[in-house]
Amino acid sequence: MMIYLYFFFLGTAIGSFLNVLIDRLPKDKSIMGRSHCDYCKRKLSAIDLIPIFSFLFLNGKCRKCKKKLSWQYPGIEVLTGVVFILVYFFVIPVKTGIYLINNAWIPAFAGMTGGGLGMTGGGLGMTGGWLGMTRGGLGMTGGLLGITGGGFEVVLELVGIIIPLGIASILIVIFFTDVKYKIIPDQMQISLFIFSFFFFLIEEGSQLSFQTIVARIVAGIVVMLPILIIYLFTRGKGMGFGDVKLAFNMGILLGLKSGLLALYFGFIFGALYGIILIILKLKKMKSKVAFGPFLILGILIITLLRVPIYDMLLRIYGI
Ligand SMILES: [Zn+2]
Repeated sequence: MMIYLYFFFLGTAIGSFLNVLIDRLPKDKSIMGRSHCDYCKRKLSAIDLIPIFSFLFLNGKCRKCKKKLSWQYPGIEVLTGVVFILVYFFVIPVKTGIYLINNAWIPAFAGMTGGGLGMTGGGLGMTGGWLGMTRGGLGMTGGLLGITGGGFEVVLELVGIIIPLGIASILIVIFFTDVKYKIIPDQMQISLFIFSFFFFLIEEGSQLSFQTIVARIVAGIVVMLPILIIYLFTRGKGMGFGDVKLAFNMGILLGLKSGLLALYFGFIFGALYGIILIILKLKKMKSKVAFGPFLILGILIITLLRVPIYDMLLRIYGI
């Protein structure tokens, strides 16, 4: 229980930084420097920056001009907290090398052999370190780096936690910059690519080879293709080039099968949303809708429901 609270509060703290990214990156403003009130430009003091509580304490109003502050601020903070719990629950146990096989948690990480990382051999002790988790350890056989103590494994475990949380944070920023400003900042695309690639390295572990890297890049291209084709045929009116880049990153992050499934769910969500808007007569058939958020919802669905979706595909189509 404590660990969930820990991830929730970590998420709210990161979330308040994500608010800054969401509002400043699309306007090319510096992300450094204190936040200020949208109306009277008063710089927020340290106590105003405490996630959620400051909003509740100030009753959602600026301390000086008493104008109502946007619900975006506490909203994103709470959302990031919840997303961090989900990442802890759904992503981290799998991706740090403990695979669910026959309903038993089996420590299966045989050490990183990725040449790029300069590590060969050496098992990973899954002792959780600072998080106080024990998931069963693997004997250390000594790594190339000659580090046999606990430091190395804790560093890798930390990386295995930070990278998925980083990806979740980037996706939250992309979701809201696209909804609010119809822009996906390139800084976020590049970060997503780098984080996704590292995530892939961790996921592959000892399976990593030149072939798997090439296969993953091909996955990015294949997942990107449908969006690229729509982009080219509609001359950028149906989808922006940001959506093309995001789809490529989805393939890098999820691989071919999950990437295509996420894309499929993205189209379904986009279509449903479009139908609802047309029924409610809120938008005309041709008006532009940000598509990035639907791709991200697709990623969310495949992350949460990967196991049942894969089971269903296997039973129905045998793939
Ligand atoms: Zn103010």
